[in-house]
Amino acid sequence: MIPVANALQIVLDQTTSLPAESVALVDALGRILAEDIVADTDLPPFDRAQMDGYAIRTADVANTPARLRIVGESAAGNGWHHEMKAGEAVRIMTGAPVPAGADAVQQVELTREVDGAGFVEILESVKRGRSIVKQADEIKVGETVLRAGEEINAAMIATLASFGYAQLKVGRRPRVTVMATGGELVDVDQRPGRDQIRDSNNYTIAAYASLAGAIVERLPLVGDDTEELKRRISKASEASDVLITSGGVSMGVYDFTKAALKELGAEVFFERVALRPGKPTVFARLGNTLVFGLPGNPVSVAVTFNLFARTALRAMQGSKDVTLPAETAVLSRDLKGSIDRESYLPARLRSDEGGTLLAEPLKWGGSSDFVAFAKATALINLPIKTNTVRAGRVVRIVRLPH
Ligand code: AMP
Ligand code: MG
Repeated sequence: MIPVANALQIVLDQTTSLPAESVALVDALGRILAEDIVADTDLPPFDRAQMDGYAIRTADVANTPARLRIVGESAAGNGWHHEMKAGEAVRIMTGAPVPAGADAVQQVELTREVDGAGFVEILESVKRGRSIVKQADEIKVGETVLRAGEEINAAMIATLASFGYAQLKVGRRPRVTVMATGGELVDVDQRPGRDQIRDSNNYTIAAYASLAGAIVERLPLVGDDTEELKRRISKASEASDVLITSGGVSMGVYDFTKAALKELGAEVFFERVALRPGKPTVFARLGNTLVFGLPGNPVSVAVTFNLFARTALRAMQGSKDVTLPAETAVLSRDLKGSIDRESYLPARLRSDEGGTLLAEPLKWGGSSDFVAFAKATALINLPIKTNTVRAGRVVRIVRLPH
């Protein structure tokens, strides 16, 4: 058994990033940036009005009401490009350029237009610079605004669009093949016969792999037969960057996944991790394909996928955040750790009225209890050699992707 940290390091050492590709902005959501994003203009690109109202000279409105002559109008997309002089005002809209000579905008609610006469009364004085965002106040041309390795989320789209990134470079999505093994398995659209169960792992792994950015292919179910496993594994490895199997890696008489990998000449880097749940996790390489042999139990699959396979998939795309970010929370009830293994135990997060993040360990029946796991939003990470941790203690957690 190797420690989780060592296993993770091996996964990182064996993973190389895939080449970048160019995508259109509309297809960029969730992808990993493979280039720095640089401002091609100042922001704002000109002194910009923040309110509908009148561009004025503050000296003219020191005493109010002050009557000013309206000499023009500056609209968004159609500014008034003259010098505004003493005693003058320019009607201005939000987002429009502020004319030269003006040093503030008074909002329209604090003004009164003198009907038909071409004058406006400014009802309250205003400080210099009021309701004006100066050119380049937010960003200067040439500044780096987003960095390679960041995942593109919806909040970043405006930035990418505003600086003209109609196309951008992102890490290629890894091609992942998913293969469930086990003579007891039938597909989801079948009614299980005697001694059979429906496969869920193929679907769980496919779901988490797409959340991690992969392009996923699910293979038909494979029985517990070394020759058949070898054929399928060998075929799958030709077409994919990563192969993820489930089942057949523990100590049972019909656990053939490791044997099949070894007979095919795969290099096996580890096959037992000091992890609960998920001890019999296998990591290997066959040709250029990374192979994760995950355990059969559905909860172990969710844990080991997110610790190891997800890390590889993120690293392949050039992500700077390859592991799930660790946070802390307060344990809401006692939780038993393990002496010889590090634990990642399913939990629900909520915050109490005081703003404290609480981790509520799920009441579960072990690593086969996928119905209990359906409520999990996080995993509580207890170090190796942990006895019972008492309610109220601070624990390390990672949020599950969703
Ligand atoms: P194994 O490691 O192959 O002995 O599997 C451990 C447990 O997980 C057994 O109870 C299997 O029936 C179950 N299991 C294995 N593969 C799957 C799967 N694809 N979907 C749901 N349960 C599975
Ligand atoms: Mg099995």
